Amino acid sequence: MRKTDLPLSEIEGIETKNVRLLERLSLYSLEDLLHYYPRRYEDRRQCLPLKEALNQDETPGEFPVLVEVVGYSSFSFGRGKVSKILVSDGFLRASLLCYNRNFLTRLMKEGERYIVLGNFHYKYNEIQASQFEFFPEDRAKTSPNVMRIVPIYSLTQGLTQGILREILFSALSLLEPKETLPQSMVQKYQFYSYPKTMFQIHFPDDWETLESARKRLKYEELFELEMNVALKQSFFLGQKKKEYHAKSLNSLIQSLPFTLTKSQSQSFSEIQEDLLNHSKPMYRMLQGDVGSGKTIVAILSMVLAVKNGYQAVFMAPTEILARQHFLTLQKLLKEQNIIVEFLVSAVKSSQRKKLLADISGGQEQIVVGTHALFSEGVKYPNLALIVIDEHHKFGVEQRMKLIQKTHLPDILVMSATPIPRTLSLTVYGDLDVSVIREKPLGNMHVKSYCILTELGRKKMYEFMEKQMARDFQGFVVCPAIEESSANPSMTSTMTRYKELKKIFPKRNIAFLHGKQSSEEQEKIMKQFVDKKAKLLVATTVVEVGVDIPNANFMVVENAERFGLSQLHQLRGRIGRGKQASFCFFVLSDSVTPEAEERLKALLEHEDGFQLAEEDLRIRGPGEFLGKKQSGLNQLKLANIIEDADLLFQAYKEAFALVSEDPKLQKKENQSLFEKIYKPFLDTYRLYLSS
Ligand code: ADP
Ligand code: MG
Repeated sequence: MRKTDLPLSEIEGIETKNVRLLERLSLYSLEDLLHYYPRRYEDRRQCLPLKEALNQDETPGEFPVLVEVVGYSSFSFGRGKVSKILVSDGFLRASLLCYNRNFLTRLMKEGERYIVLGNFHYKYNEIQASQFEFFPEDRAKTSPNVMRIVPIYSLTQGLTQGILREILFSALSLLEPKETLPQSMVQKYQFYSYPKTMFQIHFPDDWETLESARKRLKYEELFELEMNVALKQSFFLGQKKKEYHAKSLNSLIQSLPFTLTKSQSQSFSEIQEDLLNHSKPMYRMLQGDVGSGKTIVAILSMVLAVKNGYQAVFMAPTEILARQHFLTLQKLLKEQNIIVEFLVSAVKSSQRKKLLADISGGQEQIVVGTHALFSEGVKYPNLALIVIDEHHKFGVEQRMKLIQKTHLPDILVMSATPIPRTLSLTVYGDLDVSVIREKPLGNMHVKSYCILTELGRKKMYEFMEKQMARDFQGFVVCPAIEESSANPSMTSTMTRYKELKKIFPKRNIAFLHGKQSSEEQEKIMKQFVDKKAKLLVATTVVEVGVDIPNANFMVVENAERFGLSQLHQLRGRIGRGKQASFCFFVLSDSVTPEAEERLKALLEHEDGFQLAEEDLRIRGPGEFLGKKQSGLNQLKLANIIEDADLLFQAYKEAFALVSEDPKLQKKENQSLFEKIYKPFLDTYRLYLSS
């Protein structure tokens, strides 16, 4: 065990009682303690004359006074006596009232000088303080509590700032003169040494040294984050993956009802290169705004896998989308003699048994489905390629479960949500990215409006009627299925559906939500695809992927309740045909300023990349990525947006270091080996499953 991993109970001078209290703050070792940074600081470097310390209510600690004890006195209080210690700063006199602390008269000696921190007030014809702390002047220089910039920590009941400061002060003295970064890096950036940094972050000499210490610690956090990214990327180098051989896909490509765009061909050849390159498995993101045509690129990749004799799986977040993909695959691959299976949780058990048997036969095939694809009992003896559509809709664990179904698969994830630059270096730093830039159908030409009044709603209905009379279709999306008493302002899908049936009596209106059975959903989607229903009233089950080119308008009820990327995705359901399309964001009365910002961004930008940057800015990285994602929550001081410059430096250094010394075996990298490489290996071994 390294000395800095010392458990708190083994550190001399920390009482057992305090060890318990520190554990409540999740501090268990010396290391934890040292990295428990102050919440803020108080400048107690200057002693003030009493005259100025008087009546400074709010933060008495910031106003130390140097006084000499000049005598004692007392007064009656209740049944007893309270001692007074009379002090003077050379100009004025004051009384320190020792309620329940009469013993203090013995500790504060006449003729001696003390630094007093107190709440001084003018009362009963004298200056008084009843709440006060004191420190002998000759010890003040070495005290963690006065005559310096003092740290203020978050506490737990029973622990005081004074105790915690004393504990940290002595803990810091246990720090060995070691380095946690390579020496050359410390020199290059002119960082303080590690021990000095730790001392300055707790007990800074001045504000500049504090800033320097913060800078090093921020850098170190970001560097560690980037080291993990760099290690992940290099980890797979040289790992033996499934072998591929080039196959011609010309007959399939020629049979498509359209020609591939340049970006689609380019993206596919990047994927093909990854698959044929045997030096490491593919881990690539295919990114393209809604409607850019990602599906066909995924299909080509899967066909390449199948033609090489493997299984490929295609996972989508909703059954509706999975079924749509299944139908597309069946249609496009009819001539190709490729087996396509469909696995969702709704598949009946008799059918399911046969299906699972087929899949575990390991025959070359494409299996399309939802999260049911990674449920227990599904075995893919021959799985080589995993495609995850709308990958941000899955949690890390769900993706891992699918990935662990086989050994070192090639992985393609797809998303319409572009990765903002800072995130492409951190959370997504180990991904290669292919981008589809053009839109095969031209720009989405969706006009967007906010509807704020009943009059607006009436006009919108008239407009919808006109579109339907021209044989176009549309969506009405609401946030909840049923009316909830908790949220009377929220439109339920059910209520809206009934209302719309009255408003458009001649039109066939369909109603879709996630609680319907699988067959029912299938039937309803088919009605809509076949244009039998003109209007689809739905919950967010239609948010991702649904592709109905004839639909040219969308109404989003309670648009203030949806996130920015969600609204962008919803809007992406229309504008997929040649006709002009229209999106209406209907707002209730209670719109927060943040929601207003989102809608403003939406009306201004059509481009997903700009919207993602806006979204990241409005929500911050934690929320943007969803709760538990990604190591970003380990950052205590650094912020990937505010400290973007440091982040880029850390990124460069980490990648350079890993390419030079992938296993961190050089002597100079010894501390990084302990601190970063070992824990990395422990968690990452998981990837090499089965
Ligand atoms: P997304 O990237 O949002 O998943 P899709 O793959 O669903 O987009 O494609 C959107 C629509 O564009 C589909 O109807 C698809 O058939 C069509 N499409 C895809 N590529 C082309 C192309 N090169 N030319 C014309 N239409 C295309
Ligand atoms: Mg899609």
